[in-house]
Amino acid sequence: MTIEPAETRTASVLRSTNPRTGELVGECADMTADEVESVIAEARRAAGGWAQRPVRDRARHLRAIRREWIRRAPELARLDAAETGKSLIDAAYEVLAVSINLDWCSWNARRGLRTRRAATFPTVLKRARIEYDPYGVIGVIAPWNYPAGIPMQVIPWALAAGNTVVLKPSELSPLTGILLADIINGAGADVIHVATGGATAGGALASSGGIDKIEFTGSGPTAKHVLRGAAENITPVVMELGGKDALIVTDGADIDAAARTAVGAAFFNAGQTCMATERVIATPGVHDELVAAIRAETAKVVVGPEPSSHVGPLTMPGSLDRVIARIDDAVADGATIVAGGTRRTAGYGQYLEPTVLIDVPAHAEVLTEENFAPVMCIQRARDVDHAVELSNRVDLGLSGSVFAANRDEARSIARRLDTGGVVVGDAMVGAGLAGVAFGGVKRSGYGRLQGFDGFREFSRSRAVIEPRINVSLMATLAGPRPDPGRILAIARALRGGGGLRTRLQALRGGG
Ligand code: NAD
Repeated sequence: MTIEPAETRTASVLRSTNPRTGELVGECADMTADEVESVIAEARRAAGGWAQRPVRDRARHLRAIRREWIRRAPELARLDAAETGKSLIDAAYEVLAVSINLDWCSWNARRGLRTRRAATFPTVLKRARIEYDPYGVIGVIAPWNYPAGIPMQVIPWALAAGNTVVLKPSELSPLTGILLADIINGAGADVIHVATGGATAGGALASSGGIDKIEFTGSGPTAKHVLRGAAENITPVVMELGGKDALIVTDGADIDAAARTAVGAAFFNAGQTCMATERVIATPGVHDELVAAIRAETAKVVVGPEPSSHVGPLTMPGSLDRVIARIDDAVADGATIVAGGTRRTAGYGQYLEPTVLIDVPAHAEVLTEENFAPVMCIQRARDVDHAVELSNRVDLGLSGSVFAANRDEARSIARRLDTGGVVVGDAMVGAGLAGVAFGGVKRSGYGRLQGFDGFREFSRSRAVIEPRINVSLMATLAGPRPDPGRILAIARALRGGGGLRTRLQALRGGG
């Protein structure tokens, strides 16, 4: 939901409503820009002490946070489910899965953040090392679809690297953000502060001079506002944006496994996942059988308000009308609905029957734009090259998925996909693997979360260059210009001949 930032706002209340029932979940402050600045100031006050703690100490503290996280996981999962409308089991899975991130960071922070030796050339003159320092205060602007999971793709890494965090949760799930911070700070250090609100609060965070780096996860249109705000202070930004992930299935692949994976990854969390399988691309030998298998699997998916249903309500007001209009447009242009396509009225929530389309025209928005709803388009490719071309045709590139006849073919396809990651024989799992870098290309964003890249993303690297021998290269530029013969002698000395000692002597003596 992109909202234009308002110039000024008076302090007001933000109400969080359950999309399944329409009931009020709770209230919190809809912060003004000044209030956000006060939160940032608190985070800055806490930053110095946290940064000075050795990495080993911070890593140990992450284990304390993890214990607190697991202890309060049921409370957090209940709130997450209430604010997003997802089922309790999906929320519990989300909350518990990210405890692994805390674990991974705590055991790998020292390795990821230790000072590295860097190669210098010419090595005979200088030695260098790269040190990793915290930025200071990281601003995290988060979406609502995984209000615990998404911030926790950032916070453990940012904390391990020695930063404190200001979290701006979505206005649709602010209370989960507040509880998440309470759990983290409950482990004994005030390292995370929360600024609640919508576009005004997010805009204030993005343009604040008190924030040293921004991590934004959300939609492309909002990303542009964030970038404009960040430009005020040239604040660096990591962008984790939308996707339009394709699952490619080629002749000879395991059709049953591909169909079940596609259905699982397309409809989990009602399709409201950045890495949801929104497209399936099949070569001619498997296309018809795959469509039949996907149709059969989709028929088993339960949609509705029952706690045991696979597909709950769409969280954002207005989503259902927007996506049904896209489906209708595609059908008017020749697409065929194989499953779903209609809304299901069940009490308060807005539900879409899990929808599968084939023969979708290339220009249809349902095929080219992120739907963020339980909708899958199946495309027929002429051959493997055409499948890769179709996959790369959209200008979003978060992740890709491949089911091929054998490993060599899968690898060859994976190499050609224009995406930030590729999963073979599965889908969507990249965001759950703490040790693996995660992020997109093209309009899906830039920068990397998770893995060792995640530590570096939230650290400033500093090169420290020291002399090996007492020669200042710049000093040679001072005073009278050096004799060209001396330059040639240095070049000869560096080129080699003899061991290090000979070369040093040559340098000192000028040849
Ligand atoms: P959104 O862009 O509407 O909102 C994201 C955040 O930005 C919210 O906290 C919102 O309050 C804030 N915001 C709104 N206007 C702002 C402004 N003018 N300045 C600063 N901040 C502002 O996105 P959403 O609807 O919450 O989330 C859905 C989108 O997020 C989808 O496009 C989805 O693909 C994407 N997403 C991406 C990833 C990923 O890892 N790549 C993960 C989850 C979601």
